[in-house]
Amino acid sequence: MTLQQIAFFKSMIIRQLVENIADPKLRAKICESPEKPAEYYEQASLEFERSLYLELRTRSYDRVKELKEALGRIEAGTYGICHECEDDIDVARLMVRPTALFCIECQEMTERLQRRRLM
Ligand SMILES: [Zn+2]
Repeated sequence: MTLQQIAFFKSMIIRQLVENIADPKLRAKICESPEKPAEYYEQASLEFERSLYLELRTRSYDRVKELKEALGRIEAGTYGICHECEDDIDVARLMVRPTALFCIECQEMTERLQRRRLM
């Protein structure tokens, strides 16, 4: 993945994180400066941490957790790499699901195994 692509997914994930903040006041505050999402995210991250306890009470908590983990993978340099086969995850797939952990082949295999377990 190119640095440009990484930067693109980073701002996409940050935007989705902001959209998932349960507190509308905090959300409005962060959205005031939408020009540079990474910068305002860093400034806001302290408030993010504080607001997370609110997320615990909402359905969006899991989503926020997923997005924060994806952001962590960007920082660690492992973003876009399949956790199963370590191949690159298709960029088109990440556009639809920026928090994807597996490439499409491994995802389908996991789902097949889960279905079999349920039967
Ligand atoms: Zn894979």
